[in-house]
Amino acid sequence: MKNIVLFGPPGSGKGTQAEVLKDEYNLVHISTGDVFRYNIKNKTPLGNLAKSYMNDGNLVPDQVTIDMLKAEVEKNKKANGFIFDGFPRTVSQAKALDAFLQEKGKTINGMIALEVAEDLLVERLLNRGLTSGRPDDQDVSKIRNRFDEYQTKTAVLQDYYEQQNKYFGVDGVGSIEDITNRLRAVINKL
Ligand code: AMP
Repeated sequence: MKNIVLFGPPGSGKGTQAEVLKDEYNLVHISTGDVFRYNIKNKTPLGNLAKSYMNDGNLVPDQVTIDMLKAEVEKNKKANGFIFDGFPRTVSQAKALDAFLQEKGKTINGMIALEVAEDLLVERLLNRGLTSGRPDDQDVSKIRNRFDEYQTKTAVLQDYYEQQNKYFGVDGVGSIEDITNRLRAVINKL
């Protein structure tokens, strides 16, 4: 069983890569952003709560996100392992994830970060916004706010996983296939 955190700023390609890797390694892909968007689309209480945070490019409060993530994991009791995409995004989420997995006798095997320069990310997100319909992909000030959230709350997770010798950085620029190959090289050693 392998549990992997795919890490990186908005637009770094986590979702794209997770979709390829989940089949190859027989893992369940949990994207907290996708789960929130599903709930918004279906107008659930969770979606209504998350909507204003997401549309402005702010993080959804920790406890709401942690509870949602746990429920998603519990839905997949037979999973061979998970790819977490977009979670954890704060130290308190990372601690909650560790404690939750530990209760089950499981652990995070590694955090793999996709490294991409910010200018390129803005371009990628605006391009994605042309087809994704996501309000947070269509407005440069919202995109900048997502980067601010990333820098102030999420980037510190590199230290958190480095301290456990579980952090692996990968160059996130290149063709989708080249990047998948770089990720495979790390995952195969975990
Ligand atoms: P993403 O699809 O990963 O880009 O996430 C889109 C938005 O969903 C983020 O900007 C946040 O508003 C919200 N979100 C997703 N994952 C988390 C998380 N782990 N913690 C807080 N907010 C999240």
